[in-house]
Amino acid sequence: MVVATSFRNDVDEILPGVVADRRHLHENPELGFQEHKTAAFVTERLQSLGVEDIRTGINSTGVTGLIRGTGDGPGKDKVVLVRADMDALPILEENQVDYKSTNDGVMHACGHDAHTAMLLGLARVLTDNKDAFAGTVKLLFQPAEELPPGGAKGMIEQGVLEDPHVDAVLGLHVGSDLKTGTIVVGSGPIMAAADGFKLTVQGKGGHGASPHRSVDPVLVGSYIVTALQTLVSREVDPIDNAVVSTCVFQAGEAFNVIPDTAKLAGTVRTFQPETRDLMEKRITEVAQGVAESMNASVEVEYTRGYPATANDPEMAELVMAAAKSVVGEENVQVATPKMGAEDFSYFLIERPGCFFFVGTGNPDKDSQWAHHHPRFDIDEDGMAQGMAVMAASVVSYLNGGSD
Ligand code: MN
Repeated sequence: MVVATSFRNDVDEILPGVVADRRHLHENPELGFQEHKTAAFVTERLQSLGVEDIRTGINSTGVTGLIRGTGDGPGKDKVVLVRADMDALPILEENQVDYKSTNDGVMHACGHDAHTAMLLGLARVLTDNKDAFAGTVKLLFQPAEELPPGGAKGMIEQGVLEDPHVDAVLGLHVGSDLKTGTIVVGSGPIMAAADGFKLTVQGKGGHGASPHRSVDPVLVGSYIVTALQTLVSREVDPIDNAVVSTCVFQAGEAFNVIPDTAKLAGTVRTFQPETRDLMEKRITEVAQGVAESMNASVEVEYTRGYPATANDPEMAELVMAAAKSVVGEENVQVATPKMGAEDFSYFLIERPGCFFFVGTGNPDKDSQWAHHHPRFDIDEDGMAQGMAVMAASVVSYLNGGSD
């Protein structure tokens, strides 16, 4: 409690600097795997703070660094990783602010500028308070969260969870749908796995007046779309959650010509790995079964995107307690699962950890616009709570020796 309170003061003190960093990043957004200036900015900041073992160019633009605590405690051999994503989106900003994007058509419309600035702020707070914790904090700045296959997986493949061995992982996301000052923490699966499918129905084209001489892929495709809607309603446990949406249906050019093919595509969201496997298997079987029964054939392409983001219950508990101590119980909510996806999931598959949400929505500051909207912005005051909760979580983990 004392630790959390003192960090809150530290955070308030450095907030103007964090705001300035965030605005600098907002003005200079870069797309996924192209975050060269962002990474250079991060590296320069880490160097000036005296962060150790700075490594750059990981999976293109990823950066890591270490801060070693000088305190004594049960966590002195432990390493906790804190991750921020750095990439922006291909969106033309519509905000009229001093710090508007100067890179036309590219915009920080998901708050990753804030994540990066907050992790730099956390580095500052932890560097200034090394005696307050034992063990090691690994800072990780990641490219391309928004651009599948995402930056996380490649960074893990390049060894960021070793040397030193990472024991636990933490990450956060700002939320314009959450009131500033609110912290939202969930246990277990909190964000979905996001997969995609493409179906090419091969029929036999012909004259619209002579359907009996054709195999109509429009009709076959329509039956497939309908049949796919039975997967969630009839084959997934009603207590579990899943979505199958066919979002693309392209066929035909002329009103009196039965086309040769129809192209369908859609997205699949699941939380449980078994449900994910089931959806892949059944979408393929249903599409092929329907096509075959109607004398057509179908080519199925199923692509796995990010897996579900699932928090470790003990780590979620730890963050929940830290959040309550920092912002008060009345400002902490339990997360309900969202159908969106996040590549922090890859870290959570490898290590126990927690990904939580930080409110930055404030209609008085016009920061309530949806993520990925050209008017998206954040209430920068929310960054203070986010940093303080993250600092308290890190220190609680390292000093509590929890694993
Ligand atoms: Mn995001």
